[in-house]
Amino acid sequence: GVVTRFAPSPTGFLHIGGARTALFNWLYSRGRGGRMLLRIEDTDRERSTPEAVEAIIEGLKWMGLDADGEPVSQFENAARHREVAEELLAKGQAYKCYASQEELAEMRERAKAEKRAPRYDGRWRDRDPSEAPEGVDPVIRLKAPLDGETVVDDKVQGRVVFNNKELDDFVLLRSDGSPTYMLAVVVDDHDMGVTHIIRGDDHLTNGARQTLIYKALGWDVPVMAHIPLIHGPDGAKLSKRHGALGIEAYRAMGFLPVALRNYLVRLGWAHGDDELMSTEDMIAWFDVGDINKGAARFDFKKLEALNGWWIRQSGDAELADMLMVERDHLPNGEILKRKPDEETRALLLAAMPGLKERAKTLVELTDSTTYLFAQRPLPMEEKAEAILNDGGRETVRDLLPRLEAAGEWSVEALEAEVRAFAEEKDMKLGKAAQPLRAALTGRSTSPGVFDVLAVLGREESLARLKDQSA
Ligand code: GLU
Repeated sequence: GVVTRFAPSPTGFLHIGGARTALFNWLYSRGRGGRMLLRIEDTDRERSTPEAVEAIIEGLKWMGLDADGEPVSQFENAARHREVAEELLAKGQAYKCYASQEELAEMRERAKAEKRAPRYDGRWRDRDPSEAPEGVDPVIRLKAPLDGETVVDDKVQGRVVFNNKELDDFVLLRSDGSPTYMLAVVVDDHDMGVTHIIRGDDHLTNGARQTLIYKALGWDVPVMAHIPLIHGPDGAKLSKRHGALGIEAYRAMGFLPVALRNYLVRLGWAHGDDELMSTEDMIAWFDVGDINKGAARFDFKKLEALNGWWIRQSGDAELADMLMVERDHLPNGEILKRKPDEETRALLLAAMPGLKERAKTLVELTDSTTYLFAQRPLPMEEKAEAILNDGGRETVRDLLPRLEAAGEWSVEALEAEVRAFAEEKDMKLGKAAQPLRAALTGRSTSPGVFDVLAVLGREESLARLKDQSA
């Protein structure tokens, strides 16, 4: 079956591009009854941190992109990587190179002067090992073909042909015995049974080099799909301002995993004109062969709009539960910690139908719940204060006895009372509702004021109105 893998380097957090790569791998395997493996490429001991590993695993989990089996640590496979390098050496497919740092620097200088990419000139390729200088630990290099071509038959990029002259005898094993990325990736992908490599197109040339290693070992080359990187809305490399952030930042901005998946899948891939896709749809429809070659452009506004749509699609209880968890990750999550959990959840649930229609993110949704948890007397925003000062207090005062007398505290009964009042006073319904809203929420905008009254309940509503009628 199909085996894909996501292979991040834990030198930073899971960023948005990595999340999309993981999503593509996940969708491709899930759509084919396959497996997606997670390999942590932690061979760079200086730059890899356990915090980054934790953040990657946590980020994937939050995104709903669970890998199969335990994460594999590349560093822990170092002995196996060495063994394969030795095997290549024994087969004459690799050789020991004793070139000094000075010699290598010279080669780089010369390339610079001749305005071409630097390449190792193969000086130890056919040299007799007896000529090895004493006390120097060699590196092991691949004996790459000197001429001909290496083809990467890429599922996204098409048939990409590399002139073997451009691919030099690159290093497999460093002089300290540690494997290079190039060797480690091939050995791990082979040992893990990876059938499909889906990753950023910045690895396309590596794909050619890795193909040479596979061939030297007589192993099957996995199918490769090198996906275009994500660019900013201006077409330039994605900057922080334009979204090059860790997945945790997206969580803190109040995006839903389902919306993020829906947005990311369409960065570089499309299914006709379908914009809104459930995860089941994506699994059924996704194919790497349909990914665009051109760079995708990241657009916050579109992501927000999509997120708002997914919030409206979500169930009230689902959203209430989500907020109870996400409050620890949202900058304004404190709002949801002012009352006991049970009460908080109940209030959220009751108010949700009115709230979810307006919010594009969970941050906005949380902000809109402020009135539910506010302490009396409510702090008044400037606009609300102005409404009350501009005759609003009188309206509230006049309305109070009618509301107090309301037999039933329901949206319908309360609306009927306020309507009757407005007719009597010959004012528009909105004119009566506005000061009520201000007094009840401290704001000039909110969900429907009768919903607000119903959610707050008789006692709390009347107390808030009294606070503002004097
Ligand atoms: N560790 C590499 C990276 O984070 C990916 C290697 C690969 O997918 O082959 O860019």
